[in-house]
This record gives sequence, C-alpha cells and structure tokens, in this order.
Amino acid sequence: MTDFSEIQAVMVPREVLDDGQAFMRAAGLRGNEGIVLWVGQKDGPTFHVTTLAIPEQRGIRTADGICAVIEGPELARLNMELHKSKLQLIAQVHSHPGAAYHSTTDDEFAVATRIGCFSLVVPDFATRPFSFAEAAIYRINSAGQWLEAPSSLFHIAGEGGYYGAC
Ligand SMILES: [Zn+2]
Repeated sequence: MTDFSEIQAVMVPREVLDDGQAFMRAAGLRGNEGIVLWVGQKDGPTFHVTTLAIPEQRGIRTADGICAVIEGPELARLNMELHKSKLQLIAQVHSHPGAAYHSTTDDEFAVATRIGCFSLVVPDFATRPFSFAEAAIYRINSAGQWLEAPSSLFHIAGEGGYYGAC
C-alpha cells in the first residue's frame, strides 16, 4: 500500500475544483453537506489529480448537525473502480453549512485514510467558487492524526507555470 507522506505537491485541474464545488453547492441548496473525492496518480513527490469522483451519498441530520454519508457497499464499489483504473484517492473534500473545520466525526469517519492523504472542508455550503484560501486543509500523519496542512501544497494544474510532462 502506497504511503502518501512523501507527496509535496498536489496538482488539481480547474474542472475538478469547479465540478466538485458545483456538486456541493447543489447539495447545500437541499440543506445537505456534500462530499467529493479527488483521484489520480502519484509521480514521485507530485500527485496529479485527474478525476473527480462523486460517490453515491445521502445527507443525514443528527443532534450534532448534518453529515454526508457514504454506505459500505458504495465505498467497496469505489475502491474496486479505483483499483481497476489504477487510480488512487488522494483527498476528500466536503462542505459545511458554516465554518470550515475538521470535526471529530470528520476525523473518525474519513473516507481518505491512507497516510499522507488530505481532507479539505469548504465553508458555507460551497456557495462561492472554490478557493484554497477559504478551505480548511488537513492531512493525516503516520500516527493517524489529522493535522492542518498548508495550501501551498496544492497547485491548480495548468496555472502558474507549474504544469507539464516530467
Ligand atoms: Zn465535516
């Protein structure tokens, strides 16, 4: 199992950001949080996100608030699909109704659990265009703890002269 702790840069295409944001915004209009997944391939210390995966999910309300839930069979299907397409899950992104932070539920029930994976939380039901500056960004370390990570690890593919074949 590949460990992602050596990843120092994550390249994300603009469409992946925009499409994910649009999905989460639509979920928000129904009063639900939404969750999307960034998948792609690792190339040394760089991870290239190629695809947005939107798992089948449902919004639930609990005493503590709301959550987006992915059931076990859907998770298994997703893992099978990733395995077949030789793609890997590098990050999960989900929306909150208000402030962006990683709740204890987010820590415990994360979908992306491989060491070095990322979890991003987008505020205000994703009503504004995606912005790394607005998102809360966390990364899981080898002890299984989600710690805040700098947005400088992420680059929008094709922008800022950082894209190419290498
Ligand atoms: Zn959350």
